[in-house]
Amino acid sequence: MGSAISVQPLRVLIIDDDQALLRMLRLSMLSEGLEVATASDGFTGLEALARDNFDAIVLDLQMPNMDGRTFYRQMLAQGRRTPVLILSAYGAEAARRELRADAALPKPFDPDVLVETIRRIAEPAASS
Ligand SMILES: [Mg+2]
Repeated sequence: MGSAISVQPLRVLIIDDDQALLRMLRLSMLSEGLEVATASDGFTGLEALARDNFDAIVLDLQMPNMDGRTFYRQMLAQGRRTPVLILSAYGAEAARRELRADAALPKPFDPDVLVETIRRIAEPAASS
């Protein structure tokens, strides 16, 4: 199989109904060596979580079908504790506190800051 010294890339699930944003985020994260999966609402996000393990989730709040808050609560109800970064134009930090999520960034955002934040919440043992 692979080399013994190879490092597993971080696997990130991005859940957002903005397709242009998903494309941009996918490209910037791939260029940073992250593995990326995307979902366009909470329902498909839960389906992705059921199929694969992720090291972190980037979560929009306002989406059709199932919004970010509902997704988050459903994820917890399923016993999953994947770290979540909330990404929203409106009330990202307030939602982070309300839900006790791991991090929040307002839109518009700096893609470099987003990737740094993902690394921080996905690897809490490496910081400190
Ligand atoms: Mg949205």
